[in-house]
Amino acid sequence: PAVVTLAPYVPGKPIEELEREYGIRGSIKLASNENPLGPGLRALEAIAAAAGDIGLYPDGSGFALKRALAAKHDWPMDGITLGNGSNDVLVMIAEAFLTQQSEAVFSQYGFAVYPIAVQASGATARVAPARPPDAPMALGHDLDAMAGLVGERTRVVFIANPNNPTGTWLEAAALERFIGSVPPSTLVVIDEAYIEYAQDEAFPDASRWLAAYPHLVVTRTFSKAYGLAGLRIGYALSHPAVAGMLNRVRQAFNVNSLALAAARAALEDGEHLARSVAVNRSGMKQVCAGFKALGVRHIPSVGNFVLIDCGRPAQAVYESMLRQGVIVRPVGNYQLPNHLRITIGTQPQNERMLAALQQALH
Ligand code: PMP
Repeated sequence: PAVVTLAPYVPGKPIEELEREYGIRGSIKLASNENPLGPGLRALEAIAAAAGDIGLYPDGSGFALKRALAAKHDWPMDGITLGNGSNDVLVMIAEAFLTQQSEAVFSQYGFAVYPIAVQASGATARVAPARPPDAPMALGHDLDAMAGLVGERTRVVFIANPNNPTGTWLEAAALERFIGSVPPSTLVVIDEAYIEYAQDEAFPDASRWLAAYPHLVVTRTFSKAYGLAGLRIGYALSHPAVAGMLNRVRQAFNVNSLALAAARAALEDGEHLARSVAVNRSGMKQVCAGFKALGVRHIPSVGNFVLIDCGRPAQAVYESMLRQGVIVRPVGNYQLPNHLRITIGTQPQNERMLAALQQALH
């Protein structure tokens, strides 16, 4: 019954589908928070070098990548779980730790995969109300509200920091206090898919708390700032005992060999990462100035995307932009009918997006 009533995850519209439907060419997709620069050269070279081996199964333990990640995070290899995207590790967490008798807590406008993973496991979702739309960090996590929902049957709390789709974030002191307040029998998952973009000094890398809190799990991905979304690779850092549980439900060979090779190379390509973050920073400035000029309200974001309030039903705005060859993301699944989530692109892509938005609004 939990599966029958599940609303499936709706991805951004693929370019091919749009162009076939509308008979247009040369469209751009700013709908899935991908890196507009794509992968770095070193990752591409690693993929080419690994391509000859795809007749063989990948290293099912991901030894070489885990060794590199262990060095990066100063954390033992047996506390690392690789996933087919970080989505895969989020699902593994639900599968391993949730039952029909347990509960999971997440925020109203938290990442869309949490409710799906929780419901599919048969557990009960306890959804915390978000921060008010007019407060700072609008629609972001309200940690007090979340703490109020953590009870005896809560096995997992999911928090994205920065959060998607709001772009809001939680500062170090408040987040650590929250983790410390959750009983050790409840896992706290801090999903850091967008951490590379968050530059504020008070923004925490939760992995530094792993040794202090055995019930903490931190997830990361290569899909965003590293530009490897199509390869599907992400990971969880946790206490080795938690990783042992995730490893029990992990599919054999869940991460492919090209992804393993590319991720290793991407970790060594600090230049591409820095370029990606810099392009995002200037692009964010560009689009926020553009929204202001158009009189469109947005929630300040530390990610590579921004949530705007169209001030009217967003579906018509979305469709007008589609007809102009610009794909953005409606967030109706969150009951935010007036909002659109827009990924930061390259300078010319942002310009085109803003022109399409203006045309759609006027
Ligand atoms: N967490 C958050 C907050 C995300 O926005 C996304 C991607 N939309 C993911 C996790 C999953 O990304 P991936 O599976 O590509 O690692």
